[in-house]
Amino acid sequence: MQWEELTGGEFEAAVEKAAGVCILPIGVIEYHGPHLPLGTDSLTAHALASEAARREPAIVFPAYYFGVNVETKHFPGGIVIRDHLLLELLENVCDEISRNGLKKIVLLSGHGGNRFLLPLFVQLMLDKGKDYTLYYVYGLNDEEARKQVLETKVHGHACEYEASIMLHIYPQLVKMDALDPEHWWAPQDRLGDLGQRVYTPADWFSRFPEHCAGDPRPASAEKGRVLFEALVSDLADIIKAIKADTAAPEAYATFEQRIYRR
Ligand SMILES: [Zn+2]
Repeated sequence: MQWEELTGGEFEAAVEKAAGVCILPIGVIEYHGPHLPLGTDSLTAHALASEAARREPAIVFPAYYFGVNVETKHFPGGIVIRDHLLLELLENVCDEISRNGLKKIVLLSGHGGNRFLLPLFVQLMLDKGKDYTLYYVYGLNDEEARKQVLETKVHGHACEYEASIMLHIYPQLVKMDALDPEHWWAPQDRLGDLGQRVYTPADWFSRFPEHCAGDPRPASAEKGRVLFEALVSDLADIIKAIKADTAAPEAYATFEQRIYRR
């Protein structure tokens, strides 16, 4: 069920059908090579959430474009949100989702850079006495599908994996013929061993100065179909488990009681 497609009259019944679960698909707007659209991460997360919610009912929030992506600023079309706004806006949106009766919020990221922001956000919310529980999905299991279809080894951005999924869900937006047939984006590892042991502001830029990571040339819609199906199936299982979960909300409430000695 798509939040923006429901009428006000339909909303409460939808909340009940979803058992109070809302999926917030979080991406960014950033450069994805010459072949993929700027909204790839948000479009992918939203399509994945929508298909999983068709199998295991949940309300899907509209594609949310405001993740962290400073590392894309050197290419056209990127939108970079100021740091404090990232956290404030996300908290505001989650509070509003909850005010509408959805007390279990699933944060589903389609963008690698959000892997730092979202756990921090979830952790900070522990001390805020919210009346909802956040579930950050950080590990969808698509290992078997990857082994089955992928021909390349380096993945990360605008690669065989991501381009295949886009060829499956939005073929009309993918321009494979814009790729240079002689070139792919190999990691440069300019920091050498040090890069394995420390994290610097130039982490991504030092390895992938063209922002893209991997080789999209062997991408195909059929590979994308197999990968997407694995992701959807795992996410639907996770939504089901979240609906049944009482442990996280109880633990959160107990923590609050102990802090404030209620
Ligand atoms: Zn991407």
